[in-house]
Amino acid sequence: MNLSVAEEFRKIKEEVSSCKKCSLYKERIKGGFYPVVGEGNYQAKIILVGEAPGLNEAKTGRPFCGAAGKILDELLDSIGIKREEIYITNILKDRPPRNRNPKKEEIEACTPHLERQIEAIKPEVICTLGNYSTVFIMDKHGLKNYIQGISKIHGKIFAAKDLFQNVKIIPLYHPAVATYNIKMKETLKEDFKILEKFK
Ligand code: URA
Repeated sequence: MNLSVAEEFRKIKEEVSSCKKCSLYKERIKGGFYPVVGEGNYQAKIILVGEAPGLNEAKTGRPFCGAAGKILDELLDSIGIKREEIYITNILKDRPPRNRNPKKEEIEACTPHLERQIEAIKPEVICTLGNYSTVFIMDKHGLKNYIQGISKIHGKIFAAKDLFQNVKIIPLYHPAVATYNIKMKETLKEDFKILEKFK
């Protein structure tokens, strides 16, 4: 393990835990919740970026451990990727009350943590799950002109440059869509196959 990356992640965790840049930390304290920093391999080729922790995640401090997480596990399983091989995080590290959508100011306040995570890992692929993370990541990587609703760009590969290297951005539907509409699981499965070649 590269010690400096582990050290950077230790610092990020500390900073997320003490961050008061938006009001979501108050919800965390009020609910007795944990921040959900992220989980997985610091040398991952693939980072998955979701939206924000839900109740199960905030209770445990682990990303995607509720209903959407079950679907995600099934999708990863279908292409033979283990959680330990990739890194999973969100654009917001604290749960918005009643799982409402992230606010602009919360995204602005929280995403510097995500950017540091991406810089530390230097992944080959950033896979964005759902509209919010797709818009943020594509915009940050000079792909503003290609941003469309997730139903238009899911499963496409966008080549971009990060600070240090080339990176591919792959927008995907958020796995939670399959909890409302079971047919979407097939679309997600089909899209996840793209990741096989980056294992
Ligand atoms: N939905 C997300 O976007 N992230 C999680 O960690 C859980 C549900």
